[in-house]
Amino acid sequence: MPSDVIYLDHNATTPLDPRVLEAMLPYFTELFGNAASIDHNYGYEAKQAVDRAREQIASVINARADEIIFTSGATESDNIALFGVAEKYAGKGDHIITCVTEHKAVLDCCRRLEEMGKQVTYLPVDQYGLVDPEDVRRAITPQTILISIMAANNEIGTLAFLQEIGAIAKERGILFHTDAAQAVGHVPIDVQTMNIDIMSLSAHKAYGPKGIGVLYRRRSNPRVMLTPLIYGGGHERGIRSGTLNVPAIVGFGEALRIAQREIDSDGVRFRAWTHRIHQQLAQGIEGVQLNGHPTERLPHNLNLSLPGVESKALIVRLKGVAISSGSACTTIKAEPSHVIQALGFGKQRAHEAIRIGVGRFNDDQQIESAALQILEAVRQLQFL
Ligand SMILES: *Cc1c(COP(=O)(O)O)cnc(C)c1O
Repeated sequence: MPSDVIYLDHNATTPLDPRVLEAMLPYFTELFGNAASIDHNYGYEAKQAVDRAREQIASVINARADEIIFTSGATESDNIALFGVAEKYAGKGDHIITCVTEHKAVLDCCRRLEEMGKQVTYLPVDQYGLVDPEDVRRAITPQTILISIMAANNEIGTLAFLQEIGAIAKERGILFHTDAAQAVGHVPIDVQTMNIDIMSLSAHKAYGPKGIGVLYRRRSNPRVMLTPLIYGGGHERGIRSGTLNVPAIVGFGEALRIAQREIDSDGVRFRAWTHRIHQQLAQGIEGVQLNGHPTERLPHNLNLSLPGVESKALIVRLKGVAISSGSACTTIKAEPSHVIQALGFGKQRAHEAIRIGVGRFNDDQQIESAALQILEAVRQLQFL
C-alpha cells in the first residue's frame, strides 16, 4: 500500500491539497462550461472561475491578471518561452544565456535551438549551485536576446540571485526568463522587484493538480512578444490556443491562494524537518555532505551525499520511505545527476546523492521514522 510509505519526494510532485480538490469538483460536473463560450451561463460561469484563478495567481507573483497564460505545465511554458523568444526576436539576435544546472525542460530546448543554428552559453555554477550574476553580465553579447536562469533548483533547492540577474537583464535591455516551478508557492517571487519578463510555473509542485501550468508574460515595460507553438482559436491572447482546462485552472488558483496564506508557517515547519533529518543522518553516518546552499535554499528540500553509499542501492533498500536520487525526469537513466556533477566535487558524490523533499501533509513522527529508516538502510548497506 503506497499509503504506508512515507512520502518525502515533494520536489518531484506534491499531493493535491483536499481543499484544492474541493474547489475543483463542481467544475467537472455541473459547472462544465467552455470558458470561451460566453453566450450563455455555462460558459460565463466557467470564464468567471478562470478569471478568478488568473487574479489569484497574478496576485501571488505581483503580476497583472492579463499577463497570466495557462499552459499544460512548466515544461510547455519553458518551451514557449525559449522557442517563442528565439523566433520572435530572431531579427535582434540569436544568443541565449542559461546555466548548466537547469531542468531538462530548459536544457533540451536549448540543445534543439543550437541544432537550429542559435548560440547558447551554459554558465557554470559554484559549489553551492549558484550562478554568479557577474558571469551573466560577462556572457552578454550584442546578439543576446534572452537570459534564462531557474529560480530554485529542483534537485538541490538552491535559490538563484534573481533580483541581481534581473537588474542586469533590465539594464542591458535583454529579456529575462526564469523557470520558477519549484519556487512559486514556497518562497516569495515578485516579477516587479526581480525584473522578471517571462516565468514558468507548475501547479503540481505546489499542491495543485498535474497537467496545468502558467506562463507569465510581461505586457508593458517591456511588452514581451512570443511566437506561439500551438495554433487554433487564439485562446490565451493567441499565445496558447486550445480549450481551457477549467477544473485544473481553478485548482491552480486555489493552490496558490492557500500557499500565499501558509507560506511562512509551512516554511518554518519544513526548515525544522529538513534540519532534523540532516542532523540525524550527520550524527549516524561519517562524512555526510550537504549538496546546495546551506541557507539560500528551498525550505522543503534537502540533498545529501552519503560517502560510500550508492544512492540507487539505498533507495531500493528503503521500502518505507519514498525519496529520490535526483530529479524525477532523469531517474530512469544510469548517468548520475548533472546538477550534483556541476558542483565540482566529482562523479562519485553525484552517485551518492539523495534528495529528500518534505511537505505539507508530513508530520513530526513521519520525519523521525524516515530518518531512522534511512540510517538503518545505510547500516545494512555498509555491512554487505
Ligand atoms: C517539475 C519541473 C518542471 C516541469 O514541470 P511540469 O509541470 O511537470 O511540466 C520544469 N522545471 C522545473 C524546475 C521543475 O521542477
